[in-house]
Amino acid sequence: MEPFRVHILGCGSALPTLRHYASSQIVEIREKMFMVDCGEGTQMQLRRSRLRFTKINHVFISHLHGDHCFGLLGMLSTFGMLGRVAPLHIYATAEMEPVFRSQIDLFCQNLGYDVMFHPVDTSRSEVIYEDRSLTVSTIPLLHRVPCCGFLFREKPTLPHIRRDMLDVYDIPVSQINNIKSGMDWTTPDGDVIPNSRLTLPADPVRSYAYCSDTRYMPGLHRLLRGVTMLYHESTYGDDNQARAVKYFHSTATEAARVARDAGVKKLIIGHFSARYEDEKILLEEARCEFSNTFLAEEMAVFNV
Ligand SMILES: [Zn+2]
Ligand SMILES: [Zn+2]
Repeated sequence: MEPFRVHILGCGSALPTLRHYASSQIVEIREKMFMVDCGEGTQMQLRRSRLRFTKINHVFISHLHGDHCFGLLGMLSTFGMLGRVAPLHIYATAEMEPVFRSQIDLFCQNLGYDVMFHPVDTSRSEVIYEDRSLTVSTIPLLHRVPCCGFLFREKPTLPHIRRDMLDVYDIPVSQINNIKSGMDWTTPDGDVIPNSRLTLPADPVRSYAYCSDTRYMPGLHRLLRGVTMLYHESTYGDDNQARAVKYFHSTATEAARVARDAGVKKLIIGHFSARYEDEKILLEEARCEFSNTFLAEEMAVFNV
């Protein structure tokens, strides 16, 4: 199967610590790299990850809190110094463009590439990016400011052709696309070979959902049904349930509840509060509700 993986660049929350960087990750799908959030220090982490800067053409910003976007201006400036010419597309709420435009005009004069802003409506789920192999849609979240997550979903692929059957029935290569599209094959003697004997099922469609930051949303699972891998913020543990409600964040238990209710295959928790020296307690709490949970960690790579 084609690569579909998530590179964690930062998974801390707003208060800086020496253990974590602020939120940022790269979603890698079939040679394409999409950045989700860009907290302070993201470009240093990108260096460490050895991912190619030039492959990043789209940056999705969940909301305008500093721990999700303070790294953007520095990264844009660096891209300019590295001689970038390809446009960079930024998806964020509409308030971001005028603020960032003025900063770019002031600090990044003669930037050799265009920065294109795409306003995002965080109040509803809609497709905001689409190409031949995937879609990215928004996931409305509940936070102190307008905020949304992002759902990356592969498009269905065609079935695999059975090369051995091409030989058995002496089918010309020119017919491969027709057969992949569902056509049966008729031999010169008039026998019809059903498509099911000539193909193997297509790879299952994979999807990845990023949900940070948000208060626990009991109905969120409806938008996440069938998702392969979910990243959900888990700022706090059960010991800080009241704080989670007050500041519009989630506990690890609540993140796991969303994963369980949505029936996802794998849950990654992140956006850890600085108050936890060791996040294993969050992992244990989450695993009580949903066993296939893992802790995000800088430089970790998760296969979807
Ligand atoms: Zn945050
Ligand atoms: Zn926030």
